[in-house]
Amino acid sequence: MLKVSHVTKYYDKVKAVDDLSFEVKDGEIFGLLGVNGAGKTTTFRMITGLLDKTEGEILFNGKKIDYSVTDQIGFLTEERSLLTKLTVLEQAYLYGGLKGLTNKEINERLDKLLAKLEIPEYKNRKIKELSKGNQQKVQLIMSIINEPKLLILDEPFSGLDPINIELFKDLIMELKNKGTSIIFSSHRMDHVEYFCDSLVILVKGKTVLEGNLKEIKENYRKKNILVEGDINIDKIKEIPGVLKIEENKGTYTISIENKEVNTKVFKEISKSKNITKYLLEDASLNEIFIEKVGASYEK
Ligand code: ATP
Repeated sequence: MLKVSHVTKYYDKVKAVDDLSFEVKDGEIFGLLGVNGAGKTTTFRMITGLLDKTEGEILFNGKKIDYSVTDQIGFLTEERSLLTKLTVLEQAYLYGGLKGLTNKEINERLDKLLAKLEIPEYKNRKIKELSKGNQQKVQLIMSIINEPKLLILDEPFSGLDPINIELFKDLIMELKNKGTSIIFSSHRMDHVEYFCDSLVILVKGKTVLEGNLKEIKENYRKKNILVEGDINIDKIKEIPGVLKIEENKGTYTISIENKEVNTKVFKEISKSKNITKYLLEDASLNEIFIEKVGASYEK
């Protein structure tokens, strides 16, 4: 569906994106991650045709990006891009019109989406009168009113409370299940773990980690053991391959170098009579992100 091949972007002498390649398949949610200034927005702008690349190629279903292609792309930008003096309906007419929809189509789709996000009463209200979270809902609606084949979501949950996050999550999963390909960007690694099938992590425009999320986690050697109960921390610390032990609200997290170390930790912990939980887990994406990005920063 989307193929980004060896794309590089310079702003004058600043190399914002450096030889980036990845592929997003039909109905896949793909994560494009990185710290501030890593080159994510620049990449989104090149995909949506708002910015020319310096080198490389971006193909959408085998075609170069032009207006016929951008009509099939939706983009929820990180910064608000709504015309706040307009009503929600007027904004929808404007966006939908640009994407070639008739007012009748726009009205029907808007009604459905407002109902789904539980704000039907705001259709004829000025956007500036809406709360931050409701403006974010309107922004999401605008990015999907054209029923895009490819949807870019840059920090989609910003400003949302937990209940609205769930509404957004359901809608995003519904779009994925209908076959929409999604590029998802967020600093919240738990959201990335929830949604993404594959991902790329950028540092200063360069890829430092890429691939299928499940494989990335399995192949990452460090693991965590979660334990509840009375344990002899000093004894466990002495086991070779135990990296650190943290305690939070009665649960110990024992980080180990690789899963072989688990056998030794288990042997030690089974001496205790009072263990209510013992779980070996892959490292979280957050830990992997911090290690990969941190290591690249030091170079
Ligand atoms: P954030 O998470 O903060 O939004 P980002 O990953 O989206 O960051 P970009 O905005 O793509 O990063 O920026 C990548 C690099 O390009 C940064 O070094 C930034 O300063 C630089 N840059 C971005 N836009 C311009 C511009 N218009 N002119 C010059 N340099 C720019």
